[in-house]
Amino acid sequence: MIIIMLGAPATGKGTVASILSESFSIPQISTGDMFREQIKQGTELGKLADSYMSKGNLVPDEVTIKIIEERLQQNDTKNGAILDGFPRTIKQAEELDKILTSHNKQVDLVIDLVSSEEEIIERMANRRVCSNQNCKAVFNTVLNPPKQEGICDKCGSDLIKRKDDNVETIKNRLSTYEQNTSPLVDYYKQKGILRVEEVSQKKGRMGIDVAKDIERTCKW
Ligand code: AMP
Repeated sequence: MIIIMLGAPATGKGTVASILSESFSIPQISTGDMFREQIKQGTELGKLADSYMSKGNLVPDEVTIKIIEERLQQNDTKNGAILDGFPRTIKQAEELDKILTSHNKQVDLVIDLVSSEEEIIERMANRRVCSNQNCKAVFNTVLNPPKQEGICDKCGSDLIKRKDDNVETIKNRLSTYEQNTSPLVDYYKQKGILRVEEVSQKKGRMGIDVAKDIERTCKW
């Protein structure tokens, strides 16, 4: 089964994806994580991606589609995958449909996480991620703090703030989302596979609650 996580930055896509990845035993594929790994390794792709990511812009479609196409050829995706942060443009969605068709697959479910701008900005400011690329646990200094400040509960590595979680970049990432990614809501609504879920600290409904509901109602 192929699940897509839609939603603006810091709505909890990664949190929901990682829970569902475990319960459905399919890999979580985050294009953002793939680019960050390339940046860390100092590759040409990493340098290119960083020049867009550091400003809060999207990495060009042809580059992003190529890395997803290659990733979906790997054997661990034979039973499906959870795409976290891909597609982000209509062009990417159309190309994904073509890639999946060639593998006799299709998108089964699209989870659109919706949150107020105020809460999104707060969550981005307080987000801390594990510096260990094999762990990638995500914390929030207010909502979900680690037991020991600055240290990952799961693997003991240092927690860091993402380079693009800063005030200037955040605003651009939100407008990039509105302009390029939000049209995907209608794209998938028309296909009848969209599930809209509100994420709100004020309403006591966070990513973990959404994931539990999906686990309960989607039995594959
Ligand atoms: P994320 O970790 O999903 O928040 O992504 C971080 C950044 O990586 C985004 O702001 C983009 O610059 C880049 N990125 C991730 N996924 C994509 C994508 N599907 N298309 C273009 N750029 C992407």
